[in-house]
Amino acid sequence: MTKRPLLNEGRIAPVTGAETETDRLANAMSYLRAVEQEAAERHNWLEAMINHIPDYIYAKDADGHFLFVNEAVVRDNGFDHASELIGKTDFDLHSFDAATSIAEVERRVMTSGLADLGIEERALRGGDERWLMMSRVPLRNGKGESIGVVGMSRDITARKAAEHLLQTQARLLELVAKGMPLDRLLEELVLMIEARMGDTRAAVMVMTDDGRQLSLGAAPSLPAEYCQLVNLIEVSHDSGISGRAAFSGEPQSALDLMDAPPSEHCLRMARRLGLRSCRSMPIRSQGKVLGTLDLYSERPGAPDPRHNDLIGLAADLAGIAIERSRAEARISFLARHDALTGLPNRLHLDAEFENLLASAEKAGRDVAVAFVDLDNFKLVNDSLGHAAGDDLLKITAARMRECVEDSGMVARVGGDEFIIALPIARGADSSLSEKFEHVRRRIAEPMLLEGMHFHVTSSIGVACYPVHGMSVAQLLLNADAAMYRAKEVGRDNLQIFSTEMPETAHEKLKLTEQMRQGLGKDEFVLHFQPQWNQQSGAVSGVEALIRWQHPQLGLVFPSDFIPLAEETGLIANIGDWVLNEACRQAKTWQEQGLPPLVMSVNVSARQFRERAWVSQVADALATSGLDPQYLELEVTESLIMQDMNGAIDRMRQLTGLGVKLAIDDFGTGYSSLSALNSFPVSRLKIDRSFVADIPEDAGNMAITAAIVSLAQKLGLNVIAEGVETATQAAFLLQCGCEDMQGYYFSRPIDAEQCEALLRSAPLLGRQ
Ligand code: C2E
Ligand code: MG
Ligand code: MG
Repeated sequence: MTKRPLLNEGRIAPVTGAETETDRLANAMSYLRAVEQEAAERHNWLEAMINHIPDYIYAKDADGHFLFVNEAVVRDNGFDHASELIGKTDFDLHSFDAATSIAEVERRVMTSGLADLGIEERALRGGDERWLMMSRVPLRNGKGESIGVVGMSRDITARKAAEHLLQTQARLLELVAKGMPLDRLLEELVLMIEARMGDTRAAVMVMTDDGRQLSLGAAPSLPAEYCQLVNLIEVSHDSGISGRAAFSGEPQSALDLMDAPPSEHCLRMARRLGLRSCRSMPIRSQGKVLGTLDLYSERPGAPDPRHNDLIGLAADLAGIAIERSRAEARISFLARHDALTGLPNRLHLDAEFENLLASAEKAGRDVAVAFVDLDNFKLVNDSLGHAAGDDLLKITAARMRECVEDSGMVARVGGDEFIIALPIARGADSSLSEKFEHVRRRIAEPMLLEGMHFHVTSSIGVACYPVHGMSVAQLLLNADAAMYRAKEVGRDNLQIFSTEMPETAHEKLKLTEQMRQGLGKDEFVLHFQPQWNQQSGAVSGVEALIRWQHPQLGLVFPSDFIPLAEETGLIANIGDWVLNEACRQAKTWQEQGLPPLVMSVNVSARQFRERAWVSQVADALATSGLDPQYLELEVTESLIMQDMNGAIDRMRQLTGLGVKLAIDDFGTGYSSLSALNSFPVSRLKIDRSFVADIPEDAGNMAITAAIVSLAQKLGLNVIAEGVETATQAAFLLQCGCEDMQGYYFSRPIDAEQCEALLRSAPLLGRQ
């Protein structure tokens, strides 16, 4: 620091040797007066500055007596004038412990001669917590000896409070993120508030799911009898302070509980507990009230506004915690339940099943396990749409629940598959069938869907613990086998498990495994059935039809293995094989010099829905080198109707590749004629069932004629399949249907035979 000159030399005349003694004296006097005045001015100026600083500044002698204190020290220690403090020590002002620790630090500074800078210290004033940042430097005399201490301290309570708030927020958010249970988290929150607001006790009330009541979330410092009283308060404008805060979404307060009206039971009880004022703050998240934060103080009047930030933060954190806990509860519910019907799902069933068996065993009861499969769900879903299908499932689920009541469990385990687990009296075989017949009849009662009455039938298979299985897996397997038997014997019936049933399930498993291996061993072959154009008498295309050359069973037809392949998902591999093989064969024939013809390939619903299906088609075309215009994919109407928009998208992607699309078995599905217009298909295949009855069934003949004329109007090609007689062919030609396929012309034949036929018969390229 540079030394500032005491005097402004410009103002004082210089002392020169030319003056008389008197002059010199007068001169010296006036110089001293100027010095004195200057010093006094400087002192006032310094003192004013020191007194205006909000920080505490003081000087003490070696024994801790105040030599100097600024205004802030005077004021904040409750004195009026500095002179009241001069000569006093910290022992006159603070508790013994506090004064001792101050004295220790100051003695160290004095003896070491080293400054003690920027130390943060917690101090208490009244009941309030205060934080100071203290600095002490040694006070030295003219010889540089340490004769006391000069101290400076700054009130950093506000900064500390903000820091503390941030730390608290971070800590509580971490607990939220770690998934601490809501009640413990709210308790932490309440304890945090209470630690910061000395005379306050807090409670968090959480709104019930229906938004009609507040239940007690946490109130660790309020007595049990009070907690009992405030638990489950109505959310309304006249149900006490928290009910009102939750109802109105605005903070509510009772400044003096001495004035609480008799209707405010809770507040009157709070008063008896020595509490004098109460404030209830709504807890919100994303605009919604989720509960209240209630603060009870032992002092009447409004709460200290310095705590506003803390209270606001606490309410926000409580909102986050409640919201998070609700989301978790919802996720956990969804993970264990079916969203559509609200029934437990497979996961939940599996988790509960063991308990169910254990408690039934304890009670000496059996447990019946039923597999319920709806017979005609697909029909409703395909013809009336998904919304009606959903309604059907919901109604059926409710009916089953109603039959089972609270004694058992109904779970949805698949699209239209349900499992019922029901404890029953031990060995009560007759009541077993009776119970589930009742379920079956109840499901079959008419239901109103889209303004129409429907009867939904079901196939039910039942297995019973312990006679049909001791483990959950065994019981479900056997109930499933019984359900399959119910389907086999014509659906709409109930089957109780018997030991020969697993044979069927076992057979299916064996066949699936054989199919899988058969694919690797080239056991599958394609046969081809020519399609004729009657007008020109030429072959216009062939349909590829799969067969399985089984080592033991001989030639197996698709009806014997395609349904199982669909059920097990193996159809994706089989379909891919068919597609590649058909494209390869078509290209080979072209390369052998046969005129190009269209190869029709059947696509099953499951295959069509495969994510990679479109790229599989593109790959098959690329691998074989077949021009896409010579590939036609046959899809069924019901496949399209399962998810019309999705199917249309898919069909567009396929036509985008340049391949043709045909609707197979047309007339047996439920596509509305208006929708037909929006399908990007080029051909309809009239189903065999219409053709078969020509000329006996006039109705079918009329339908056939109508389909042909509809196709013509929509600019679609049309082909009839299953043509077995000349009469049928003639009738179709007369209706305007030129393309035909059926035993009348040729049965499906193997590649070699087909090649010979193509060489001998004229071909017609179909566009
Ligand atoms: P589809 O696509 O309707 O095939 C026509 C079926 O009718 C073939 O039976 C064919 O042999 C038979 N058929 C043809 N003309 C006549 C006739 O004049 N009279 C009679 N009574 N029947 C005739 P197939 O080959 O047994 O195929 C049955 C079904 O299996 C096919 O019906 C098709 O839905 C499915 N399918 C065949 N191959 C495949 C394939 O590679 N993939 C898929 N996903 N399904 C296939
Ligand atoms: Mg077909
Ligand atoms: Mg067909």
